[in-house]
Amino acid sequence: MTAPLDSAQLERLVRIRRDIHGHPELAFAEHRTADIVARHLAELRLEPLRGVGRTGVVAVLDTGRPGRTVGLRVDMDALPMDETADVPFRSTVPGAAHTCGHDVHCAIGLGAATLLCGGRDALRGRFKFLFQPAEETLEGALAMIEAGALETPHVDVLLGCHNSPQMEAGRIGYRHGASMASSSAFVIRVRGAAGHAAHPRSGVDALQAVPPLLSGLNAIRAKEISPDQPLILSVGRIEGGRARNVICDEVVLEGTCRALDDALVEEIEAALRRLAHGVSIATRTTIEVQWRNLAPALVNDRAALDRALQAIERHLGAGVLTPLETPSMGSEDFAWYARRVPVAHLRIGSKAPGRSTQLHRSDYFCDERAIGTGAHAMAAAAAALAAT
Ligand SMILES: [Zn+2]
Ligand SMILES: [Zn+2]
Repeated sequence: MTAPLDSAQLERLVRIRRDIHGHPELAFAEHRTADIVARHLAELRLEPLRGVGRTGVVAVLDTGRPGRTVGLRVDMDALPMDETADVPFRSTVPGAAHTCGHDVHCAIGLGAATLLCGGRDALRGRFKFLFQPAEETLEGALAMIEAGALETPHVDVLLGCHNSPQMEAGRIGYRHGASMASSSAFVIRVRGAAGHAAHPRSGVDALQAVPPLLSGLNAIRAKEISPDQPLILSVGRIEGGRARNVICDEVVLEGTCRALDDALVEEIEAALRRLAHGVSIATRTTIEVQWRNLAPALVNDRAALDRALQAIERHLGAGVLTPLETPSMGSEDFAWYARRVPVAHLRIGSKAPGRSTQLHRSDYFCDERAIGTGAHAMAAAAAALAAT
């Protein structure tokens, strides 16, 4: 199992990608997409299981020979935005678009399944295809895990990938250790007491807590955390007050924290709670902090990633591999799987000349050569990991 997809297989996968692209579905609503995925897997003589983690699809290829079980995870959902890219297969659904390229991931996953099923007589172990919903809301991975997607058969090692419009098509990117950031959401709710603005002593002004909270957050970053530790701690939304002449009785601040180290996230949460407690005393308000970890940092398993990279280099040629110099401060719910099993996560170059190099933008564009490269790389890596 070393050959790339042939031109007929590639053409078919491009058609599938464009079909999904034109009919994007948001988190946990990937019904039509799951239909397409399941139909293709069934054509490969697999027995896809539907409705895993609500709209996910899982199928297992068992070679019947000893070896490990390698999972291949693919995300399927689109984003709640409009598409402006000038392509004939543009989204036909207002307010939904594949501007993160999960349509491309579906084609890559089906391509890898095609290669592994075609080469099964020369392979060992088992391959478990996990087509996951709701990555963009960072909910789908946990839904799949809770539905048992990592068990029966137990996944020994899991592969994932994401297209990268910042990297030339044909290249495969990787990073050892932490490659993507955690994502936490926090809500700080400050309560005071309303009163007549002309008589400040008649109330407790909740707005007085906002400046020390904002400067305190910046001080945590500046004074408590080492400058070489990547960390984003920012408030993106503040809402409070009822009228210009009423003392503000409630203000809510919402923000996000991104880091590459889960221990640091715990430290930040504790620091934020301490800050809120201090500010509440100073301003006579009550302050409640809600903190939710939406995804941990994505940390690759060194042995699994090295094995995958060796296989990719062997099958796709020396020079396709591109080490990523910096981790991404973006998040991936693939990180939840990494909490349970060893993982290797790859970037699949998808940059096209003169086109947008950004994900989550209305003019997102993918060089479809990424499908062939991605499928070949994922299949080669999976085969090697299963035989290890
Ligand atoms: Zn995305
Ligand atoms: Zn994505």
